[in-house]
Amino acid sequence: MTVKTGRTDKTVLITGASSGIGEATARRLAASGHRVVLGARRTDRIAAIAKEIQAGGGTAGHHELDVTSLESMGSFVQAAHETYGRVDVLVNNAGVMPLSMLEALRVDEWNRMIDVNIRGVLHGIAAVLPLMRAQRAGHIVNIASVSGLRVDPTAAVYSATKFAVRAISEGLRQESRDLRVTVVSPGMTRSELADGITDTDVRAAVGGLMDIAIPAAAIGEAINYAVSQPLDVDVNEIVIRPTAQG
Ligand code: NDP
Repeated sequence: MTVKTGRTDKTVLITGASSGIGEATARRLAASGHRVVLGARRTDRIAAIAKEIQAGGGTAGHHELDVTSLESMGSFVQAAHETYGRVDVLVNNAGVMPLSMLEALRVDEWNRMIDVNIRGVLHGIAAVLPLMRAQRAGHIVNIASVSGLRVDPTAAVYSATKFAVRAISEGLRQESRDLRVTVVSPGMTRSELADGITDTDVRAAVGGLMDIAIPAAAIGEAINYAVSQPLDVDVNEIVIRPTAQG
C-alpha cells in the first residue's frame, strides 16, 4: 500500500496575510518548510513579514491583493505560479467584521462584508481552480467562523457571509475528487478584526468579550495540521475556539 504523503514544500498562498490569522498562518507554514506568498492591501506590512520569514530561513514572497477584485486576485495567483511553478494551497483568509444591528441600516458595511467575505472567497476559488484542476491536486482552506455555525445579534450579515463560506466550501468539496477543501471556523481570536467595527457601543461590547481570545497562532497551527495530512486525507471542518467561550 502506498501512502500519499504529498509534498513537504508546498506553495501556499494566503489572502489577508498582513495581520492576525493570515500573518500567523504564513509564519507557521513557512516554519514547516512551505513556500508562502502573502497577499493583502497593506503592502508595507506583508513586505516586512515576508522579510522576517526570510531572515528566519523561510521562503516567502508577497503581492498586493484586493480580494474584492477578480483581476487583483488573478494577478496575485499568476505571480505566485510564475515564481514557483505551481500553487498547492490557497488559504482564503481575508475578512472584515463591521458588526451592527440591522436596524442601524449600515448598508455600505453589509455590502463590504459580502464583497470581502463572500466574493473574495469566490474570486480566490476562481483564480486557483483551473491551475489545481490541471495539476489534478490542490487544497483550498476557507476561513469561516463560529458565526458560520450560529447567529447572534449584530452579527446577522457577518454570520450570513460565513454561512455562505461553509456552503460554498461544501459544494466545492462535493464537486471535486482531487482537491482537498477545508473550512476552519475560529472562535474569538486576537487580531485586528474588531478594529473595523464603527458602531462604538458594539465595538466596546466586543472588546469586553475579547479578554478570553486565543492567539492567532492557534489557528495557524490548525491550518498547518490540515495542510500536513496525506493527500488522500481531506480534513473538512475544524472548529477552534477559546475554552472559555460560550
Ligand atoms: P485581521 O483584521 O487581523 O485580518 C484581516 C485581514 O484581511 C488583513 O490582513 C486585511 O489586510 C485583510 N483584508 C481585509 N480586506 C481585504 C481586501 N479587500 N483584500 C485583501 N485583504 C483584505 O482579522 P483576523 O485575522 O481575525 O481575520 C482573518 C479571518 O478570520 C477573517 O476571515 C475573519 O472573518 C476570520 N475570523 C476571525 C475571528 C477572530 O476572532 N479574530 C473569529 C472567526 C473568524 P489589508 O487590510 O492589509 O488588506
